[in-house]
Amino acid sequence: MQVITAKLKLNPTAEQKDALRGVSLAYRDALNYTSQVAFAAGKTSNGTKLQKAVYSELRARFGLGAQMACNVPRQVSVTYKSLWTKVKQNVAAIKAGHTKKRYKGLDKAPKYISRTVTLNYQRDYSFKSEQKVSINTLNGRIIVPYEGYSKHLQFIASCAKIGAAKIVYQRSSKTYYLMVSMEVSTLSIDPTKITRISGVDVGQRYLAVEVDLRNKAKFYSGKAARHKANRYHKARKSLQRRGTRSAKRKLIALSGRERRFIADTNHQIAKQIARPNSLIGLENLNGIRERNKSKSGKRASKKQRRANRDKAKWSFAELHSYIDYKANLVGSVATKVPAHYTSQSCPKCGHTSKANRPNKGLLFRCECCGFELHADLVGSRNIALRTLLVRQDWMSTGILSASPDVSSNEAKAEVLQRFSELRWSLDASPHCICEPSGELSQRWVVDDKI
Ligand SMILES: [Zn+2]
Repeated sequence: MQVITAKLKLNPTAEQKDALRGVSLAYRDALNYTSQVAFAAGKTSNGTKLQKAVYSELRARFGLGAQMACNVPRQVSVTYKSLWTKVKQNVAAIKAGHTKKRYKGLDKAPKYISRTVTLNYQRDYSFKSEQKVSINTLNGRIIVPYEGYSKHLQFIASCAKIGAAKIVYQRSSKTYYLMVSMEVSTLSIDPTKITRISGVDVGQRYLAVEVDLRNKAKFYSGKAARHKANRYHKARKSLQRRGTRSAKRKLIALSGRERRFIADTNHQIAKQIARPNSLIGLENLNGIRERNKSKSGKRASKKQRRANRDKAKWSFAELHSYIDYKANLVGSVATKVPAHYTSQSCPKCGHTSKANRPNKGLLFRCECCGFELHADLVGSRNIALRTLLVRQDWMSTGILSASPDVSSNEAKAEVLQRFSELRWSLDASPHCICEPSGELSQRWVVDDKI
């Protein structure tokens, strides 16, 4: 089972639009009211306590239905919980000397800006025939036509397990969307049905490089996208510094555009990477290294600091999650593999060294065997090879394990030892299909015939 969110565009009449506006503004105001109450009660994140305190007020003053009046305190409680977590992390970070900045997220009652409503399925909203959805508003139900991605419409029609939904409003296009969460059964995928294995490396010069074990590579250039994202980012930072009322208004619109632009680009890349019947290897980036390793803080010059400031952060975690999500829709699987040394290991002989990448240039040249390759391909090839190991384990055990646990040094050493034995044999000579050397290439020959 996998939980996905379908984004449905609502096409309301003018009257219905007013009703959507009314309920989403009332809900937002109810969130802010509840947030104030929580703040006054010692910044509590206790949902039950909050509900008792605000329920009748939410119904009487904001006109919310019973379900919505329960959802509001629950949502506020979640917000406070996550802010408390950040406060605690910040306290720990200050103690450990990692930062001097105090986290201010709970200095004031958190404020909800966007109009929104959380709706419970079958109570606040339900699907009707002919692609219409019934939504509860302050003045009764409205039945609104919607449109969406055809795969999602199929899921709805086939009665996937549907959960709560959210109304969101996009200011720029003055459009209301219904974000519906639902559980989709990912058919248990049989490893023998997987006919293609690939590895995806993400990074600076290219947002993504994908290579499969048939050595077909695809580069997703980040130049134009990054340039545009950086422009948004720069404009946003300058508005932030200005801080006037009109600047703030522009800032909201711009932040949305920046976020959507990055999400759109990630969607497009993910759509192409998620091809059918594939096992797609992604790097497990947790705690491995910082992606955009550039000097910051006191160590950086003024010029460097300014450059950092104008640089947008690209969300690779988002890209990974899109790939995972889209892979599942086409009968493929995305898996995470440990990312240690993926850019330093020689795909041909396994030799791992920083010096394999002379002057950090575009060329990877193995110190040991002299193998040469475009540096941006090395990472994705190593990831593809590691993914092949995942597949082998899957075939032999019947269990597809996510990224192996490498939290202990011992386990890490063992995993890396296995990785160091991996060889990119197809590359060495196209004839190795006839004379397979070692287990990996043999397996690959089998796959090639499918
Ligand atoms: Zn080598």
